[in-house]
Amino acid sequence: MNFEELCLDTRILRAVTEMGFEQASPIQAKSIPIALEGKDMIGQAQTGTGKTAAFGIPLLQRVDPHSKKLQAVVLCPTRELAIQSANEVRRLAKFMHGIKVLPIYGGQEISKQIRSLKGGVQVIIGTPGRVIDHINRHTLKLEQVGTVVLDEADEMLNMGFREDIELVLEKMPEQHQTLLFSATMPKPILEIAKNYLVEPETVKVVKKELTVPKIDQFYYEVNPRKKNEVLSRLLDMYDPELSLIFCNTKRKVDELVEDLKGRGYFAEGLHGDMKQSQRDRVMNGFRNGRTDILVATDVAARGIDVDDVEAVFNYDVPQDDEYYVHRIGRTGRAGRSGRAFTLVVGREIYKLKDIQRYCKTKIKRQPIPSVDDITDIKAEKILEKASDIIESENLAKMIDILEEHLDEKEYSALEMAASLLMMQMGENSSGEMAKEDFGDTGAEPGMVRLFINIGKKNRVRIGDVLGAVAGESGMEGDLVGAIDMYDNYTFVEVPREYAADVIDAMKHAKIKGKHVSVEPANGKR
Ligand code: AMP
Repeated sequence: MNFEELCLDTRILRAVTEMGFEQASPIQAKSIPIALEGKDMIGQAQTGTGKTAAFGIPLLQRVDPHSKKLQAVVLCPTRELAIQSANEVRRLAKFMHGIKVLPIYGGQEISKQIRSLKGGVQVIIGTPGRVIDHINRHTLKLEQVGTVVLDEADEMLNMGFREDIELVLEKMPEQHQTLLFSATMPKPILEIAKNYLVEPETVKVVKKELTVPKIDQFYYEVNPRKKNEVLSRLLDMYDPELSLIFCNTKRKVDELVEDLKGRGYFAEGLHGDMKQSQRDRVMNGFRNGRTDILVATDVAARGIDVDDVEAVFNYDVPQDDEYYVHRIGRTGRAGRSGRAFTLVVGREIYKLKDIQRYCKTKIKRQPIPSVDDITDIKAEKILEKASDIIESENLAKMIDILEEHLDEKEYSALEMAASLLMMQMGENSSGEMAKEDFGDTGAEPGMVRLFINIGKKNRVRIGDVLGAVAGESGMEGDLVGAIDMYDNYTFVEVPREYAADVIDAMKHAKIKGKHVSVEPANGKR
């Protein structure tokens, strides 16, 4: 469904267009019309399906920017989600002047939040405990609230927020709309719905029976800032003749094509904003081999018809299980073998697990290839070609030239072969150590254990370390692993792909006002 039909407010439509959304995701197409009618609603949807915009768009259309009163309350389970959703709703409200959206969560100084609230905020997105706190202090006034959203309701219950949620719901004014989103529908959620929602409509994205083609599927857990680097390593390593890369937005397609071209790949983009003549040009280039990488959105890829795509890359995790199946079905056609690769950032792993469950398929995790791995694979390919030449060509003349040269210079044949191999491999093949390689730090598999020179004696708590590590590096808090705190120092485990960034970010950070030093732990410690 088009956003033109869902965003009655043209300012929101403008924002959605700028964000590069090409079509409404299934949960958006179903829930926005119901929410716009003012009805209560229960939406069954996971993270990554576009549910923030599914409640954000109708919520904003009901907000009056001329009133500075609080008009919408979104409750969500974690600080990270509060910040993330607030950013998304702010982006949607970009052209609606006068609308303020504020995330409020425990752990942040309450006085700072009170100051922001006093300035007039129409939408708050917060964790239940802290929202109650503000209600009790009368720093949040609910009389004008028209919309309440429970986001990831099942997660909030798992975290023990049921009482808090019910308290907030009880304090709502008589006339208000409640939208409840949850990935699963256990009994307590249904009880909340029964007690607090009025004749709610239930929205569920109906899953069709999906058959996934039998192709090898892999995923890589990546740091968002390293996505392009990881993608180019995969392209180098597998060197597919034709690849199709999927992004979730038009904007991302343009950015990625630009980046890939800058790295020397023959890549072109395909999305809904392009004229038919432009699309034809791109598709012709792809069919006749001038372009070997096509970057596309789901919508744009629908119309294309090429059979021999060797690899499909999901640069973004698709928003719907069905998209995943359509995407990877582009490879492995006509009896050919194919591969599908998915880059996963943080919590998107849950979406991927969901895809695996519904599509009854196995997507295997793989470590990000190091520069060394790529060197090995490239060398193997060149040597295979060389073997073919030995088998099929007459090399007498070349052997004469080499013999003469080797005699003269006193090199061994092996040295000469190695240097010719290096030449063939081009630049960047010296086998430089991958930046992410920290050796054994004594951490769990997939993690790196970091040493921080601050501990209990500095009156630091585990929460301070967690907050600093996640906050400074932009990593989600729940990705941080074990934290062991001693008197003078602390160990914290972080996912391998984030370790370099954490070390980097912490160089300028302070914990409890003190500069700290962070380094990979010595595995034997
Ligand atoms: P959410 O499920 O709300 O966490 O959204 C996941 C991601 O999808 C966010 O980065 C959104 O900006 C993005 N997104 C939401 N709706 C769309 C859409 N219709 N098309 C493309 N991306 C979207």
